[in-house]
Amino acid sequence: MPQDYYQTLGVGREASPEEIKRAFRRLAKEYHPDTYKGDKREAERKFRKIAEAYEVLSDPQKRAQYDRFGHAGPTQGFDFGPGDFRRTREAFGEFFGGRAFEDLFSMFFGEGVRTRRRAERAQRGEDLEYRIRLSLEDAAFGAKLRATVARYLFCARCGGSGLAPGTGLVTCPTCRGQGQIEYRQSSMFGMFVNVRACPECGGVGEFPQSPCPSCGGEGRVRERGEIVIDVPPGVEDGSRLRLAGQGNAGIAGGPSGDLYVTVEIQPHPVFRRRGQDLEVDLPVHYGALVLGATVKVPTLEGEAELKIPPGTPANAVLTLPRHGFPRGRRRGDLKVHLKVIVPKKLSRQQKKLLEELTSSLPPASLGSDLYS
Ligand SMILES: [Zn+2]
Ligand SMILES: [Zn+2]
Repeated sequence: MPQDYYQTLGVGREASPEEIKRAFRRLAKEYHPDTYKGDKREAERKFRKIAEAYEVLSDPQKRAQYDRFGHAGPTQGFDFGPGDFRRTREAFGEFFGGRAFEDLFSMFFGEGVRTRRRAERAQRGEDLEYRIRLSLEDAAFGAKLRATVARYLFCARCGGSGLAPGTGLVTCPTCRGQGQIEYRQSSMFGMFVNVRACPECGGVGEFPQSPCPSCGGEGRVRERGEIVIDVPPGVEDGSRLRLAGQGNAGIAGGPSGDLYVTVEIQPHPVFRRRGQDLEVDLPVHYGALVLGATVKVPTLEGEAELKIPPGTPANAVLTLPRHGFPRGRRRGDLKVHLKVIVPKKLSRQQKKLLEELTSSLPPASLGSDLYS
């Protein structure tokens, strides 16, 4: 299906030439294959579409024709067959002979400045993302976790250089080591001298005389290996730890990327989190509330003793200070929610005792003082 040029540039049918130009510049910058961070092929496809749309919409005559006849109009065809990156690059060169080229040119290289930096062979490795699930205890006190990840590591055979042992780099004969090629182009404004990256060496100006047979010249190989993740105490759910230099190894000896670890704290079977405080439900007997008692409470470390004062109301919440979740040097509290056990089965003896107790108490009614 032919593309809608207005849709491609994300502008309305009434867009002014200035708006069209702005949209084109913004999109071209975003999808420029040399700088696009994601899928290069996708960027190239998108880039070509953007340029094609701009070529037509930036020309008042072509635009009018397109508005009237659509793609059926007598417009010039733009034929890009499927090809490898080099062919695409050449196609770019041919394609940007028109308005799109001039605009791109001034955008990327500044008005009148026609130089292009030589590309570096060595490139930084990609950053990697990893997720770990932590128990609440590990999150609170920190942990050293081991994980197996697949990533690029420096090729042991060539030491990351990408060169076969005993060989070196050779200067690219096509660009004579410049990394760029000048070519002349005539336009309605006169002769242009344009530069573009050398397709032979990818703009680097040199290439391995003989690539390392283990890594194919990239200087790195993909392997599964163990990493150790040092989780600091008091880490929060959703926080991101950076392991510097633990991402993918760089290309041709470039620096390694980083590994980012996102922490997910698993729900705990006993504790609930409320900020830095923890909550726990503790079953207690009626008698312990009435008479007072010392009971054991589970904590992140194990157990602690809690004093229940005599005459404690049902559903009371008692606090164990500094038994919550740590933050820096401080620690939250543990809030103990007392839950009175109401037994469903009692022995004859227990029933008798309870009946005696109940009948000895004043009758419960609305207005009875719950807490005295
Ligand atoms: Zn070259
Ligand atoms: Zn190698």
